[in-house]
Amino acid sequence: MSTSYDLIVIGAGPAGLAAAWRAALRGFSVALLERADHVGGMAASVDVAGIRVDQGSHRLDRATPGYLLADLRELMGDDLQLRQRSSRIRVLDNWLSVPLRADEVTRRLPRSLLARIARDSATTSFRRGGNESYASVVRSRVGPALYETVYGPLAEKQWGIPGDCISAVQAYRQASRLSAWKVAGRAVGRIRRKTQEIAGGYYYPRHGFGRLVETLADAGAEAGVDIKLEAEVDRVRVYEDEVEVATQDGDVVRGGLVFSTLPLPLLARISRPAPSLTSIESAARLRYRAMLLVYIVHKGGRWSPYDSHDIPDQRTPVLRISEPMNYRDNPDDPSDRSVLCAEIPCSMTDEVWGLDDESLADLVDETLGMTGLPGVERAHVETRRLGQVYPIYRLGYEDDLTEVDAWARMIRRIVTLGRQGLFVFDNVHQALLMAYDAVDAIREDGRFDRYAWTVARERFAKSAGHYH
Ligand SMILES: Cc1cc2nc3c(=O)[nH]c(=O)nc-3n(C[C@H](O)[C@H](O)[C@H](O)COP(=O)(O)OP(=O)(O)OC[C@H]3O[C@@H](n4cnc5c(N)ncnc54)[C@H](O)[C@@H]3O)c2cc1C
Repeated sequence: MSTSYDLIVIGAGPAGLAAAWRAALRGFSVALLERADHVGGMAASVDVAGIRVDQGSHRLDRATPGYLLADLRELMGDDLQLRQRSSRIRVLDNWLSVPLRADEVTRRLPRSLLARIARDSATTSFRRGGNESYASVVRSRVGPALYETVYGPLAEKQWGIPGDCISAVQAYRQASRLSAWKVAGRAVGRIRRKTQEIAGGYYYPRHGFGRLVETLADAGAEAGVDIKLEAEVDRVRVYEDEVEVATQDGDVVRGGLVFSTLPLPLLARISRPAPSLTSIESAARLRYRAMLLVYIVHKGGRWSPYDSHDIPDQRTPVLRISEPMNYRDNPDDPSDRSVLCAEIPCSMTDEVWGLDDESLADLVDETLGMTGLPGVERAHVETRRLGQVYPIYRLGYEDDLTEVDAWARMIRRIVTLGRQGLFVFDNVHQALLMAYDAVDAIREDGRFDRYAWTVARERFAKSAGHYH
């Protein structure tokens, strides 16, 4: 069967959903093709033991622009709550609140480390700003002491390579996190006794983060978007006057324009005409880090008062443990049980990727014991495996990305956007903004304004400092 649309959007994550909805509101006929049996991509929620949980810790950033927030509020009403962050990070053998509190930093961290942080802080302006790698940028910004105890271990866990092998771009994209620790350094160095907090609010839907994407899907369907689930795209063929998108089960959808939120390397593999051999080789070198999510149902009521715990400790592969019910105020959530979600970034070839559910829960148990967190009364375990989560910005990745992106920009009638589509480490509000800008760049006659899109992309690149 073959149908024709003004716009075909591939991928129903936040970027694809928002783009499809906005384009339908403008009166275009839109098909949205999604591989999974549900919408939402990485931002979807799932049910575990009757509790809505997210795919790892998800918060909508306070930096979400007013116009976007106003749209979300109109769709979600009071369900979109403004929450105060109550997270912690393990530094050496101590838990510190995030946002950092200077009094706690000075009270909890060992004197020797405080002295090094204070010295690093006092010498910030004399340190030469290296920009060769993630490690050199972060060392020069926050100092060697904080790099070695916090940033280096976190980065290595998250991306699976040492900070010296990660591009400096990754550090620039984390500017806000870096400045948080800089404040701590300054507090230790100069205003030792004063309590200093860094604001840390966020937005979160009452019924789980996924409510946000489900609401966008509902709005899209109401505006006329034809949402096709379990439609895994495996071929995109560009002709002079249209694009043909084929799915694994043999369906073919035709359209005047395609917005692809597919991983860029995948698009390069399935597009016809195929890119040059150089582009294909570059695409193959663009890699993603995978993520294993372990959900443990705790039958003893709330497990902790915190929303999440970050664990740089190299003795465990667990990077973060969150408790989804603590992200929201929802009287319908049960009081006799809770769910913990442990995030394990890894490669799909790592041994941990193949472990069974109970072994993974044991691993989480060990992590709790090792880091002084409360134990769980385990009632049930579930796991999820996400294959492509973090784009890996290894040294030199820029050349490969430039090569593949140059090819993608040249294909007529196809526009790449979203986290995977642009190979960026972005957040949901940024994915939504890209979608808004991409739809704004469609002219009334359905043709795409490449100039407007280039300007928008330049804007994303400049706002990279806010990405985290
Ligand atoms: C552990 C974790 C924590 C995070 N925390 C936060 C946070 O606190 N705040 C925040 O704002 N963001 C956070 N993010 C990032 C956020 O999830 C992403 O920015 C967002 O989901 C990106 O949206 P997207 O639409 O670009 O991509 P995705 O969500 O990846 O959507 C892409 C979609 O394309 C579909 N697809 C893939 N291949 C095919 C195919 N062949 N055919 C059809 N469909 C296909 C996928 O199934 C998916 O639905 C986090 C991400 C992770 C993994």
